[in-house]
Amino acid sequence: MLPILIIAAVLLLLLIRTPWRKPHLDADPGPTAASPLIQETAAHLGQAVQFQTVIDPGGSSTDWKAFIAFGSWIEETYPLVHQKLQMEIVDGYTRIYCWEGSEPSKKPVLFTAHQDVVPAENVDSWTHPPFSGTVADGFLWGRGALDMKGQMIILLETVESLLKTGYQPKQSIYLVFSHDEEVGGSGAAKAAEYFQERGIEFSLLLDEGGCVTVGIMPWIKHPVAAVGVAEKGYVDIELTCSYYGGHSSMPGKRTSLGILSEVLAKVEKHRFPLKLTSVSRQFFLTLMPHMPFFIRVILANLWLFKPVFLKNMAKTPSGNALVRTTTAVTMASGSDAPNSLPSVSSATVNFRLLPGYSPRDIIRHVETIIGTRPVTCTPRRSEPPSFITDWESPAYQLVEQTVREIYPDAVTAPYQLTGGTDARRYQQICSAICRFSPYRLTQREINGMHSQDERISLDNLHRALLFYHKLILRLE
Ligand SMILES: [Zn+2]
Repeated sequence: MLPILIIAAVLLLLLIRTPWRKPHLDADPGPTAASPLIQETAAHLGQAVQFQTVIDPGGSSTDWKAFIAFGSWIEETYPLVHQKLQMEIVDGYTRIYCWEGSEPSKKPVLFTAHQDVVPAENVDSWTHPPFSGTVADGFLWGRGALDMKGQMIILLETVESLLKTGYQPKQSIYLVFSHDEEVGGSGAAKAAEYFQERGIEFSLLLDEGGCVTVGIMPWIKHPVAAVGVAEKGYVDIELTCSYYGGHSSMPGKRTSLGILSEVLAKVEKHRFPLKLTSVSRQFFLTLMPHMPFFIRVILANLWLFKPVFLKNMAKTPSGNALVRTTTAVTMASGSDAPNSLPSVSSATVNFRLLPGYSPRDIIRHVETIIGTRPVTCTPRRSEPPSFITDWESPAYQLVEQTVREIYPDAVTAPYQLTGGTDARRYQQICSAICRFSPYRLTQREINGMHSQDERISLDNLHRALLFYHKLILRLE
């Protein structure tokens, strides 16, 4: 009798905790008809795409002339911006604009974007050439259309059009367009230094990051607007093994590459444990009321179902990245010739850190796996996870309200980015950082960002224009 009573009590508790009613969301206004404003923005973005501001990781093959030409084009295309705003260039190519507000005592806001793009591979298989900026089938096609010349051009269009009406914001608005975000470069860091030296701090920073998606998040039919409030940390570790070299016709029992491979296999096998961070918990709890009943029961009762939930999340690479500090063996090298023993072999493992882990934890983890093997562990690039922006802060709420206005059928939720952005460079001077691109994107469009057929719909251009326009007016 007692077991039945306990089961009944647990079931009752599960049901009591589960929300029963789905909150109401308004309908989407639908795609906008092509207006002259959108056509002009698309034409400008098309021209911007034509500048091949491709960044090279080493910087050696970067065509800096393209950045200079792009800069001149920006100055010609947005004359009022360059008349009324102060502009400074730091680190060679990173542009900082200050639109002075009428009440300088108010903390300014910062909008960021980057001018650089990743290379376009398989050029022949693109539907339209990657640097043509073609407008066709309701889209503007080309490298950088989404990542991230789009946001940059839209910001410039928005400011230019507001200046035309004689508008002046109350609090100052800064824009920073960095030039080497894609290689984790120095432009944004130098801009942050520039602000720090002048004692300028921001009440809100908006950079790229999440967006509105439909059908990508599991268990939810509504569009989801994911606003990045945190980003994972980043650590590259180089593992090196030195062992006897010589001719491969007379090898010893082992080679440096063999020993190193053993370590790599173990690193891959000993994954970090699953963890539900405060951001991911909040993300799912925000979406929960819109999910099917069965999932609502699970999410409302994580005290009981957390292990099952995490295990399920970890089944896909994207879900796994949300709930785990990830490990990826990415580079390896041994001997240069098939018949020489590698006297030195090396490999690189890339880790993405959830909040709560430090680069030091990763090194300790790898060193434990190496044990007594003749392998050394050297950290290369290393960045801790970002801080978490408070989703109850006025800055986040402002972004959320603006998203709701432009995408009324979407559920807005705070999100933890699995990749990195420029935004982390500004952590010392801004306590409310939101990473969000005001677009509604399909999986195909998201995939195009660093591969082929990158494109942005004209409807997205229009909504992003509205988004920044309304956001700036809301700052009042
Ligand atoms: Zn980007």
